[in-house]
Amino acid sequence: MAQSQADNDVFDEFLNQRGYETSDAGWEENYNKKQCPDCGGLHDAEATNCTVCGWSPV
Ligand SMILES: [Zn+2]
Repeated sequence: MAQSQADNDVFDEFLNQRGYETSDAGWEENYNKKQCPDCGGLHDAEATNCTVCGWSPV
């Protein structure tokens, strides 16, 4: 049982870290828009990469 608890803790930590990384990492925020940190282009919230200069968060 102790083993199982430890595994859950590690998994929770993994999810927390993933959550941080995937929450619009890299994008600047401009009101409810995403702003490319490279060229300043504005994009809708669902954008995954900049259509102006091709930048994407990695
Ligand atoms: Zn850009």
